[in-house]
Amino acid sequence: MSVAYLGLGSNLGRRKHYLEQALRALEQHAGRLLKCSSFIETAPWGYDSPNPYLNAALALETTLTPHQLLSVTQQIERDLGRTRKSRDGQYHDRVIDIDILYYDDRVINEPGLTIPHPRLHCRRFVLEPLNEIAPQLIDPQRHLAVAQMLARLDD
Ligand code: ADP
Ligand code: MG
Repeated sequence: MSVAYLGLGSNLGRRKHYLEQALRALEQHAGRLLKCSSFIETAPWGYDSPNPYLNAALALETTLTPHQLLSVTQQIERDLGRTRKSRDGQYHDRVIDIDILYYDDRVINEPGLTIPHPRLHCRRFVLEPLNEIAPQLIDPQRHLAVAQMLARLDD
């Protein structure tokens, strides 16, 4: 059994509904939900949009490998109606985004899969909900706790 931390986001349509649907699908296809943060409203990050996000973080107990987990989360994104992927740092509005933040204390650097998630340490919309459920979790790359990374944000 492994523990994965995931970040969820939605900024189109019935945002709460999409987050809840994603949670349900993850429980069905990815593993047992251990913890889930509250849903936090945040401003779009890295691009201009009038549509604020609803973000959440969760912990999942899973027997899937990191790659299997990624393909399940991407299938759930498609099932919920997400069409476009981000490329070259170009972001866009989306009904659902599911990112793998951590997988045990694994460090993975491959073209299609980077764990810990590469931009997590500078994103309040990730660290704030994650801090609700795992403030003491240590980032295996930065050797800092989630609460410390959140306190160091200077945005
Ligand atoms: P973003 O979340 O940055 O807006 P996308 O959700 O469109 O971007 O994902 C773009 C690509 O990021 C995906 O095709 C996926 O292969 C890749 N990726 C790399 N590492 C991760 C990760 N830890 N979690 C989710 N996707 C990842
Ligand atoms: Mg994503």
